[in-house]
Amino acid sequence: MCSLGDKPAALTGLAAWSRPGLEPTLKHLLRALFLLLLITPIQATAAEPLYDGHIHYSANAHAEVPPERALALLEEAGITRAMVSSTPDDGTLALYRLDPERIVPVLRPYRNRGDMSGWHRDPEVIAYIEARLAATDAYRGLGEFHVDAADVGSPEMARLIDLARPHRLFLHVHTDGAGIEALIAVAPGVRILWAHAGLGEPVTTVDAVLSRHPGLMADLSYRYGDILRGSALDPAWHDLLRRHADRFLLASDTWAPSRWPQLPASTTQARAIRTTLAAGVAAKLAHGNFEALLAR
Ligand SMILES: [Zn+2]
Repeated sequence: MCSLGDKPAALTGLAAWSRPGLEPTLKHLLRALFLLLLITPIQATAAEPLYDGHIHYSANAHAEVPPERALALLEEAGITRAMVSSTPDDGTLALYRLDPERIVPVLRPYRNRGDMSGWHRDPEVIAYIEARLAATDAYRGLGEFHVDAADVGSPEMARLIDLARPHRLFLHVHTDGAGIEALIAVAPGVRILWAHAGLGEPVTTVDAVLSRHPGLMADLSYRYGDILRGSALDPAWHDLLRRHADRFLLASDTWAPSRWPQLPASTTQARAIRTTLAAGVAAKLAHGNFEALLAR
């Protein structure tokens, strides 16, 4: 149902411009005000960038979400820069070639999903990483990779850390509190981004680890459900985000094809977190910490 009385405000405003009897100057003023109202939301979005610290474009998504569609979904979600890693790495470079401004390539040591569990004991994975690093200097990090505390001492892990240093790459690591402590111990001075802030780790553990390691940063993918309580923030998370405001990155994690169409909804949650935080803290989580991690 739509009657004349339901006419959108924009059309009512347009009608006002052509109403006889209004002086030309007043008409121009009304027109300028109306145009200002139209463009203001766009300017606000452009002035507050939203970056994403955890995106994958793996082979499992390519048929459902071709590269152009993936970039369109990032655009629709308002994500203007994203750290992207993929299984295999070809997906990352496909997006990067199409949109080098938006895509920050991160090199994942997985040629296929089977590498997820055994990559840190496979010399061929290291040869794969070395070949990719030799082919382009586009990469800014190594990961996301999974590793447990018991496996951080492997020769392959040591080799990966050795590659990170000269190429100035950060490590994007999916592990628990014990795993991140163990990795930091064998990779002094290497920048580390802790995926999902430890995923299942409680706030107290995340707090303790971040407090012990001032250089450590963490992405918040799969944490929005912990952080948000309706339209408010969980008090313990709110306190954590404020006290460690320089350490967190907003992030989505498109590990499965179904996660891609959900991106715009995921960033609605990111924006809800952002609008609840103090402006300075929100800006750091939305883009400042992302930039700082790359600048170090
Ligand atoms: Zn991931």
